[in-house]
Amino acid sequence: MANPVNWQREMEKTLAGLPEGARPRLLLHACCGPCSSAVLEQLRRRFDITILYYNPNIWPEAEYRRRADELAAFVARFAPEGDVKLVEDRYLPDEFYAAARGLEEEPERGARCTRCYALRLERAAEFAAQHGFDYVCTTLSISPHKDAERLNRLGMAAAERQGVRWLPGDFKKKEGYKRSLQLSSEYGLYRQDYCGCEFSARK
Ligand code: SF4
Repeated sequence: MANPVNWQREMEKTLAGLPEGARPRLLLHACCGPCSSAVLEQLRRRFDITILYYNPNIWPEAEYRRRADELAAFVARFAPEGDVKLVEDRYLPDEFYAAARGLEEEPERGARCTRCYALRLERAAEFAAQHGFDYVCTTLSISPHKDAERLNRLGMAAAERQGVRWLPGDFKKKEGYKRSLQLSSEYGLYRQDYCGCEFSARK
């Protein structure tokens, strides 16, 4: 059996291959402030970053709003120079329910989550292509509950379909998750206790 891909190392190879002094435009899909914190810290020096908040999976709407507002407040404090931009995309929960149909009872990390990742990554890649970004990626792999293999394969496929480059990564590696906990505590960020959708909230 082939060795599993080390996606963190793949990212390091991509970073090492960037031209000296270049700061390519990166569209970073993000689900919340805590997950964004350590990823931004790691990538901010190498990329001109725009965060895309596209998360129609989040339920209820008040929780969606809370995570969006917390992310905006964090970005404003973390990057007061204004070099990190934030775009809040549409919030149409039916997009998620259509993707998750028939998989409502799946456990977390199961087939419903694959559809949920795919939906968000496809939109991120589409947005990146439409707005001329050099790379697209997601903060999702920082969570110990989310496997980098699936996220990177889905992200690469979406990026290829949309004609943009995928930045590989596994942000939980190299103490990335631990660092997100430290930054969340330092910035007093709200940390939700369920993944996002109503099915995960009920479990
Ligand atoms: S558990 Fe999380 S990743 Fe899975 S479908 Fe729900 S919101 Fe999406």
